[in-house]
Amino acid sequence: MSFTAATAAAGRALARALPGVCAVCRDWDARGLCDDCLRRFAPLRPRCAACGNATPHDVPHCGQCLALASAFERCIAGADYEAPWDRLITAFKFHQQVELAAVLARVVERALRHAWRDGEARPTLLLPVPLSRERLRERGYNQAWEVARRLGRRLRIEATPALLQRGRDTAHQIGMTRREREHNLRDAFWVMPHTPVALQGRRVALIDDVLTTGATAHAAALALRRAGAAGVEVWVVARTPLGSA
Ligand SMILES: [Zn+2]
Ligand SMILES: [Zn+2]
Repeated sequence: MSFTAATAAAGRALARALPGVCAVCRDWDARGLCDDCLRRFAPLRPRCAACGNATPHDVPHCGQCLALASAFERCIAGADYEAPWDRLITAFKFHQQVELAAVLARVVERALRHAWRDGEARPTLLLPVPLSRERLRERGYNQAWEVARRLGRRLRIEATPALLQRGRDTAHQIGMTRREREHNLRDAFWVMPHTPVALQGRRVALIDDVLTTGATAHAAALALRRAGAAGVEVWVVARTPLGSA
């Protein structure tokens, strides 16, 4: 093994989630993420109900969402997409660290329990934002499904991996505006016909790891609404803060 390859391998080994150790501070913690790190790095802060952006005061919507309609009604984000979540999500998504799903699901669950009010209608079906078939084959797992199925188990909500499908791989969206992304994603998502899981009239939560402009979630939510979902929320581990997309 070359020196560079060895260094890269060592780096990957360091990033590896260890059983019984907090993924952030490396202190002992049976759940893989300690309460101190959760409180410190995923502070429960006021966020825009429509897009999950942090808002300075307890206002329901950020200025951007007042001007822009989305197919989803609500977005709940566990944290901002910054350290240490960016590192953990990269390891989770691109370095086969599937076991980090449990840690990341906890970040979302905490934000949900904070945001939920008594008596409000909650989703009865969890769906991951799907990967294209090629991407799924290449990665071997859909990171959003790994989070969704754990959340489903913890919250006792039905979760299903393949009801929503994604077609052709869309061009890379980095650097595109939201409008350009929306155009790029036209018809990228569809709902599988004749599945045992019914969508009609149900309130759905779409799960993803990161929300950037919201264009992907918008396109996926649109497909779900067209197929009969009564309402769509988006739950993400992390939200790219405004201005850094
Ligand atoms: Zn910790
Ligand atoms: Zn907003």
